[in-house]
Amino acid sequence: MTGRNDLPAAPRSRFALPQTSIGGLPSKQRARALEFVRSLLESPTAPYFEDGPVSVVRRFARERAGLSLAEDEHANLIVRWPGSKRSRAPALAFSAHLDHPGFHYSGVRGGVHTGRFHGGVPARFMPGARVRFHSSSGSAHATAIVRAAENRGRDGIVAEFRDVRGKPARGSFGVFDLTDGVMRGTRLSSRVCDDLMGAAAILALLDHCVETNCTRAVTGVFTRAEETGFIGCVGLLESGLLAADTIMIGLECSPRRATAVVGEGPVVRVGDRQSVFDPMITAGIEAAARRVSTRVPGFGYQRALMDGGSCESTAYNAFGIQAGAMCLALGNYHNCGPGETIAPEFVDWNDFEGLVAIMIECSESFDAAQITLNTRMRLKQIYDREYKRLTVSGRRLKRPAKPGMRGVAR
Ligand SMILES: [Zn+2]
Repeated sequence: MTGRNDLPAAPRSRFALPQTSIGGLPSKQRARALEFVRSLLESPTAPYFEDGPVSVVRRFARERAGLSLAEDEHANLIVRWPGSKRSRAPALAFSAHLDHPGFHYSGVRGGVHTGRFHGGVPARFMPGARVRFHSSSGSAHATAIVRAAENRGRDGIVAEFRDVRGKPARGSFGVFDLTDGVMRGTRLSSRVCDDLMGAAAILALLDHCVETNCTRAVTGVFTRAEETGFIGCVGLLESGLLAADTIMIGLECSPRRATAVVGEGPVVRVGDRQSVFDPMITAGIEAAARRVSTRVPGFGYQRALMDGGSCESTAYNAFGIQAGAMCLALGNYHNCGPGETIAPEFVDWNDFEGLVAIMIECSESFDAAQITLNTRMRLKQIYDREYKRLTVSGRRLKRPAKPGMRGVAR
């Protein structure tokens, strides 16, 4: 089968809402969320080639009155909803990255096309994988199959391609030739869940803020080049565009764990492979999740240390912006499928809806000082109930021991 430019047709996609809803979002909002997901997932991306998703976010911000768009010198994007009420409360921000592991085309020498891979995918998964090359504007102009891939240490993974169709050009990037998105039941499989699903959740939240004239200020942060070591995020932090007292919640798709299962609800992420996150913000996120679960029957969420990868919340905390995190449990992380083959990533659609529902709840109520106070009050209540036992036994422990008793308990 051939497509445009006589290239093999791209894999089919199917974006359709699951029949059943967990009830976290009203039906109109579900449909809009699917549109945000679709527009992002249909945009090919790789580290340093986030042009497609960047233009989706820019367009989203410009189309909605009330949102403002700021960019740092690296085209990291900050979309702000100012809130309908003036407030001194610190900004509540959500962050997601727009890239995904992919190839940069290097050129052809002696008839052999090569490319360098950027991002964390082991080389042994790559031979036999189909790749589609795009210009930075997103148009596809070549396809190929990985013949061999070798990890060259500091130079990263270099791949050789066979069966090249079309004309790959210098300055183009390659993505695994997998579906943009297919919904089966409640499972959404895609070339890129990590982290365009996080970015889509922020668009759904900001859209809700505009539609409901949300009182609180909410900020969406969209970073570049996360997969090569939080490069865009660190650039943004160095730019000083984020207020120091920002309450940051990082969003990710993170490899599923025994304690964080695909389809069991969005995950309150207490930490990653490198660090644990801000306890107060974590408590605030979980309080919001609990409120949604009391309101929506059958709504579940998970709480876990997602140590299968690292996320930008580690970078935010390291640079002095307090951060917590949420994520979706992810299957086939970084396209690593069964039998060491390249396959679509997958998440559960209901987990995604649940994530958006918790984010909306956070935007309606997230008082950091109050959360700390509540924790102290809860501990004090238990203390008041138990303190008599503590004082009585304390008196015994403080009595001088009788001679010959040598520490025998009474
Ligand atoms: Zn990620």
